Amino acid sequence: MDQGQPEGNPVEIAVLVLALAQAESRIWKGEAMGSSLKIQASGTDGATLERALEAAREEVARLDRMMTDWKDSGPLMEINRQAGTRPVEVPRDLFFILKRSLQVSELSDGAFDITYAAAGRLWRWWEKNPPVPSPEEVRAALANVGWRHLRLDEARGTAYLDRPGCRIGLGAIGPGYAGDLALRKMKELGVHDALVNLSGDVVAAGTHDGRPWEISIRHPRRPGEAFAVLPVSNLAVSTSGDYERFFIKDGKRYGHIIDPRTGYPADGCQSVTVTAPSLAFADALATAVLVLGPVKGMELVERLESVEALIVAADGTVSASSGLKRRSP
Ligand code: ADP
Ligand code: MG
Repeated sequence: MDQGQPEGNPVEIAVLVLALAQAESRIWKGEAMGSSLKIQASGTDGATLERALEAAREEVARLDRMMTDWKDSGPLMEINRQAGTRPVEVPRDLFFILKRSLQVSELSDGAFDITYAAAGRLWRWWEKNPPVPSPEEVRAALANVGWRHLRLDEARGTAYLDRPGCRIGLGAIGPGYAGDLALRKMKELGVHDALVNLSGDVVAAGTHDGRPWEISIRHPRRPGEAFAVLPVSNLAVSTSGDYERFFIKDGKRYGHIIDPRTGYPADGCQSVTVTAPSLAFADALATAVLVLGPVKGMELVERLESVEALIVAADGTVSASSGLKRRSP
């Protein structure tokens, strides 16, 4: 063979060059479910990619309408409105996510609990200078917190909160579920290299430019800085932290994730990143581990198949689950 001549069958090389030339990528960025949404897709046919992005966006919007707890209407709001009164028939997707939520509550010994909302609404972190609720207020609200207050009837497809003061909020699992279904839509339309990112909750399929997708994890105390990068393919990554939604009063930080056992914001971790096969599961587990704290949280992760975690404790100590340690150089 002549010097400088590329090796390999010329026909194969021609095919490869053609494939490279035809690889196209599309990105859509916007907002959904009260956070930022980014969808990426690659493939060989631009029109298919456009259709897939559109379908993914519609899917997220559909689930947002179903799972909202602050707009005028929607099936989740109806469950809350009928608390203590009557069971409400709910769409299949909502029923599934409520069931999944109860499973994660059981797994995490109640650290993950969508009925946190009865106590959560006392902590008004979205206001400018919110008050710290009194211990009496917190205690009274806690009477309405507890995942066993949510009764699901599989045969009837209904959900019922058994006390008038009970409330459900899906902020810690809804976005993850929407990400999963958005990705599934894209796959159904023939797109196999794609990523959905809802404010740092990411699910990725296939590859990006022939390599795994790379997901940066934000540094919990240095805005704009990444503190880890995870290569992922066909995997979900979710991060929960105390640094995005919080307020500080008398030098103490009050985050938006509530310990359902005390009614107070959880304060054992700065940030928890979980990887799992589905984003709904990763999203919920990241919240559960943040509530459980670094030690009990890591114990839970190590007990679960196909789940890994990176935890930054309140004092800044970083720990990685055994599967992540094996992967790092
Ligand atoms: P992020 O919003 O940063 O992704 P999470 O996924 O952990 O963080 O979701 C936090 C949201 O979950 C809160 O804003 C609240 O709506 C809800 N939440 C708070 N505490 C709990 C809890 N113990 N269990 C389930 N959901 C919770
Ligand atoms: Mg989350």
